[in-house]
Amino acid sequence: MRMTLLLLIACVLIVPSLVLGQAAPSPGWGALQLLDREVLPGQKRKFSYQHAQTFEGSFLDTAVFVARGTKPGPTLCLTALIHGDERNGFEIVRETFFRLDPASLAGTLITVPAANANGFRTGSRYMPDRRDLNRAFPGRPDSDNTSLIAYILYTALREHCDGLIDLHTGSFDRANLPQVRVDLANPRALEMARRFGAAVIVGGAGPSGSLRREMMDAGIPAILYEAGLPLRFEPMEIQEGVRGVRNVMIGLGMIQGQASAPTPGDHIFSKTRWVRVPIGNGGVFYPVRKLGESVRQGDSIAQIFDPFTDEQFDVPSPLAGRIIGMAVPQVVFSGYALVHVASAPYSAR
Ligand SMILES: [Zn+2]
Repeated sequence: MRMTLLLLIACVLIVPSLVLGQAAPSPGWGALQLLDREVLPGQKRKFSYQHAQTFEGSFLDTAVFVARGTKPGPTLCLTALIHGDERNGFEIVRETFFRLDPASLAGTLITVPAANANGFRTGSRYMPDRRDLNRAFPGRPDSDNTSLIAYILYTALREHCDGLIDLHTGSFDRANLPQVRVDLANPRALEMARRFGAAVIVGGAGPSGSLRREMMDAGIPAILYEAGLPLRFEPMEIQEGVRGVRNVMIGLGMIQGQASAPTPGDHIFSKTRWVRVPIGNGGVFYPVRKLGESVRQGDSIAQIFDPFTDEQFDVPSPLAGRIIGMAVPQVVFSGYALVHVASAPYSAR
């Protein structure tokens, strides 16, 4: 399994340039110039962009997959593995790109399937200098490697993208219900989020330094898809992501097809809250609810067993809402975040 993953990563990172497919372009619709490469109408290209050297002299590469349609249209960008352990997004990008026929594409799909390539190799959320790439945007050209990579990606994406979908999973030992996060105050981004068609949309601008927030600040509608657990490929969460990206591309007029229903208004939430281990408690945690379930205020949502006293206690939900994230069973300490509850339906405002 580990060998297969390493081979997969090697294929993505080492293959310097791969050109797939070509068809007659529309008049006046020309080549795309991106990161020192040219992608002609009707082409799919995969290349690695080398931008920084490590201390031992090897290069830090970022793989880029680009499909240029034969017809004019918008540019949609997909980014994955900005957190190097959040692997589902890699498969969403790979499958979306593999399925795409540039001969019937209007516009351009630019993808960065493994933004934190070193984290993908090592299973780490962080960059080699232990910094979080998703707090480093827009980056700087004259600083550390993380800032430099952030700067190169941000500059290229800002120049070309008409919309961005950034792909993530839960972090560490937490799983997320497939969901889209978006700034509800931005109508264009909200429209893209609803077209994605996830079961739940959660409002929020995202943290400062995140790619989504910085792209939004630059005037580019950006949404984030969160699904599943880190450090694995999860078929259901991946297929929901592939379907969501396809829905957005149909909505933008880039591909033809029947999109699934957009997310209904009462599945859009404007607030979330983590329910934590009550202060002074701790022990072995088991959830008593499933991702996606609705809870009422006071409902038990977790059980904790004290291994020394054999006492067992329930953790009640302090609010009504829908469960969108949850820790996996584990030993937990006072204050640890157990269950993420979304509340305040947007349509009820
Ligand atoms: Zn993430």
